[in-house]
Amino acid sequence: MPDFRNTRWFWPVSVLATGVAGAAVFLFRGCWHSKMSWPVRSQGYCYQVCMSCGIKRLFDEQEFRPFGPYRYDLNELIVWAKGQQQAEVERQRPAS
Ligand SMILES: [Zn+2]
Repeated sequence: MPDFRNTRWFWPVSVLATGVAGAAVFLFRGCWHSKMSWPVRSQGYCYQVCMSCGIKRLFDEQEFRPFGPYRYDLNELIVWAKGQQQAEVERQRPAS
């Protein structure tokens, strides 16, 4: 477990990002997803779960921040993540 005691910027930035992303979801779910669990690993992916409603979001262990859309179905997140990886591969492909 990394030590975040000296990274004061971490929590404000994280709360802000979660707030902005959560606002869109709140409109039709009635939940701000403000209480996310610690990241858990499953099927090779790391994600957080909302303690209030159970929605899931992918979590970047290297950057230590959540990313991507909110989904109740982990499989949908995996599909989304694979799509992102594919897009990244195509971006790095040299233009011919
Ligand atoms: Zn929630």
